[in-house]
Amino acid sequence: MNIEKIRSDFPLLLQKHNGKKIKYLDNAATTQKPKQVINAIKKYYEKYNANVHRGINFLSQKATEKFEDAHEKTAEFINAKNYKEIIFTNNTTEAMNTIAYSLGSMLKNGDEILLTKMEHHANIVPWQELAKRKKIKIRFANIKNGKLDMEDLKEKTNSKTKIISVTMASNILGTINPVEKISKIAKEQGAYFVVDAAQAAPHTKINVKKINADLLAFSGHKMLGPTGIGVLYGKSELLEKMPPFLTGGDMISTVTLKQSRWNKLPWKFEAGTPNIAGAIGFDAALDYLKKIKMENIEAHEQKLMNYAEKRIKEIKGIETYGPKGPKTGILPFNIKGIHAHDVAGILDEDAIAIRSGNHCAQPLMQEMNIESLARASFYIYNTIEEIDSMAIGIEKAKKIFGI
Ligand code: PLP
Repeated sequence: MNIEKIRSDFPLLLQKHNGKKIKYLDNAATTQKPKQVINAIKKYYEKYNANVHRGINFLSQKATEKFEDAHEKTAEFINAKNYKEIIFTNNTTEAMNTIAYSLGSMLKNGDEILLTKMEHHANIVPWQELAKRKKIKIRFANIKNGKLDMEDLKEKTNSKTKIISVTMASNILGTINPVEKISKIAKEQGAYFVVDAAQAAPHTKINVKKINADLLAFSGHKMLGPTGIGVLYGKSELLEKMPPFLTGGDMISTVTLKQSRWNKLPWKFEAGTPNIAGAIGFDAALDYLKKIKMENIEAHEQKLMNYAEKRIKEIKGIETYGPKGPKTGILPFNIKGIHAHDVAGILDEDAIAIRSGNHCAQPLMQEMNIESLARASFYIYNTIEEIDSMAIGIEKAKKIFGI
């Protein structure tokens, strides 16, 4: 991977802040966009902007073709059967709400759903809302040494468990969960297996057939695509059975004053005018990732992580979190005596962007007994020099605070 060449594709990274090179280390929140993605969106608006699935005119036909191509390319990217299994949503959050609403409506009172204690709010709150409408019990598998406690997960799975829904990679700890094993546990009980792949899809090859996921969600903006485009994958046999979440235009085949019939997959789940520009931008992001190859991305992040963990542990008073062994490119840490927001603020003066706070996973923070956490997260364009700059910035924060 030629990092300098990759960096030259990202206009934002070529800018300066406070006269300093931008060091963007907040990729788990969202990634920067290469000019190939920006140009694809610009081209759509300048050359063939029109609504999809509605027009006989040449503009609408071209927009429809590109929009449908994006579904097909996404299907290939995650090894789905075909475009019918790919629903475009706004983001992972909307996909998880669709799942909890729609799959949730197929559950009966007394059924159980099993989540884990390392979930993002997107894989907790929609299920809690379901539990307000139905008498459903939500259980949470424990965490042990930064990893999912598989024994506990097995113990909490029983004949009442109808859905197991887990994150494939933790947005706080970077933990990679053994989704294939969890899938087997779910199948043995006849439960549906749902995967939140928001922090996995940007970093590793997703193979929905190998995982044997019934439903899986991720966000385009965390993998070089624009904001406002997410993916909900579902096995077509299951999606056929599930009721739609949002209803209205485009998701119907016929409407009378008495009743409506649903459109074919995947359009049954894409109500109203979709994010056409977003889908086209996402298609360009997938091309970009495919060209670099996911295995190269993984190797680059692993190299950065190995260096970052070693480098940061040299700093006295630093506390790091997460499991030993392979992780996605996420480095959570705190410095004794300094609030994470202050660390982030001091790094920001040197144009180093990290994240601080509770990272939309408050139950995990409660479990770890910490209020706030600093998090650096890496992607394809990050360098060893940027990690050095962050380490120097942390030392500076310590000096300012007299630690
Ligand atoms: N799930 C995980 C593990 C995440 O890290 C995030 C976002 O950080 C989400 C879900 C929600 O993604 P989005 O905000 O794109 O809906």
